[in-house]
Amino acid sequence: MGAVIDLGMPVAGGAFDEHHPPDAALIGDCVHCGFCLPTCPTYVLWGEEMDSPRGRIYLMKEGLEGEPMDDAMVSHWDACLGCMACVTACPSGVQYDTLIEQTRAQVERNHERAPKDKALRGLIFAIFPHPKRLRLLRGPLRVLQRTGLDRAVRRTGLLERMAPQLAAMESLAPRLGRPEPLPPRITATGERRAVVGLLTGCVQGAFFPGVNSATARVLQAEGCDVVVPPKQGCCGALSVHNGRETEAQDYARAIVDAFEAAGVERIVVNAAGCGSTMKDYARLLGDDPAYAERATAFAEKVRDVSEILDELGPVATRHPLELSVAYHDACHLAHAQGVRAQPRALLTGIPGLELREIAEGELCCGSAGIYNILNPEPARELGDRKAANIVATGADVLVTANPGCLMQVTAAIERSGHPMGMAHTIEVLDASLRGAPASSLREGTHPSA
Ligand code: SF4
Ligand code: SF4
Repeated sequence: MGAVIDLGMPVAGGAFDEHHPPDAALIGDCVHCGFCLPTCPTYVLWGEEMDSPRGRIYLMKEGLEGEPMDDAMVSHWDACLGCMACVTACPSGVQYDTLIEQTRAQVERNHERAPKDKALRGLIFAIFPHPKRLRLLRGPLRVLQRTGLDRAVRRTGLLERMAPQLAAMESLAPRLGRPEPLPPRITATGERRAVVGLLTGCVQGAFFPGVNSATARVLQAEGCDVVVPPKQGCCGALSVHNGRETEAQDYARAIVDAFEAAGVERIVVNAAGCGSTMKDYARLLGDDPAYAERATAFAEKVRDVSEILDELGPVATRHPLELSVAYHDACHLAHAQGVRAQPRALLTGIPGLELREIAEGELCCGSAGIYNILNPEPARELGDRKAANIVATGADVLVTANPGCLMQVTAAIERSGHPMGMAHTIEVLDASLRGAPASSLREGTHPSA
């Protein structure tokens, strides 16, 4: 790749329009060293230059210089998981996260997708960013799970053959527990140390209500008043990551409104993908004069739950949990937010708990938002590879901090035939604070659900 010329605007007739094309200066930061290649899951799977960060950046440069957007070009960008392992690996500080986000918004505006792809994306976005619609799905899903019909359908392999993407969606659905609605305000135990707002999320709220309850209990025990704004909707993460820029901005504005009205000092998130998006609201709403400043103030308050607990320091008593735990770094927590030490510190602060690291820890598990539905084959391969590395730790429980990873890894572990406990980081800490037995974590898919 030659040096990127300083393009103020994309060349007419090329891939991009003038609304935030991939930034030429950021593209120019890439020195083509290839350090990112071994951490890029698609390059690891296929060994193709155009399915590496460097190759994708090269295609952006070509698009800026006048190359039209075609199916092949889009397929390489579509195949990117958005895992941001390349951002961590890059010694030159290339902001691939910004580049791929700008590129994906251009693709959604300027590229006509095949009708089947369009319909699937339409279906996903008609359901996933809507907490109420997701909650409505709980009833039929629970019936399927309780009657064993879901497993029976899976065994026939029929859905897999007819509609692999729908089969992927079905196989990822977690075992559902009872709903656990949270009150609008929960008062701190003992001396109040902070007033925090809790994002309940779409998938987290509908499919993992126990994680939200555990988060609220832990924050309460650590001296926080927890405010749960009742009118909160989707944070826009799925939309941002899939180039649906205006939709994402609408969701972001509504979230800013809801949490401003709550009057909180910090906004706590327990889903990695949501946290990384909300920390980036200043950029997402940067063009909106009514929201730009408010979005910046909002983003500064956002913390992953492990970050706020680390900042506050522990006051509640930790009861022992004789347990070995393999911790899986969610990409949007480790690579996108740089949060690695805090969840590990929370876990190792529990007496009796042994933390085990997973080989190839930087490699994505294949979940990546809705990637595992849109691209079931590579996602499954990555999931199986992750499951093998997790099983090799010999740990009792797999712990991670993102609902997407929990669903993806649970399905892969089930396929591996080596069942183990699965939990969110906060559920482990909650079990310790409550003095729950270690067996509740070893045996449960989600102990507080
Ligand atoms: S975000 Fe992940 S999949 Fe995409 S180019 Fe970077 S490392 Fe590869
Ligand atoms: S590591 Fe950074 S500079 Fe090197 S090829 Fe990858 S993106 Fe470019």
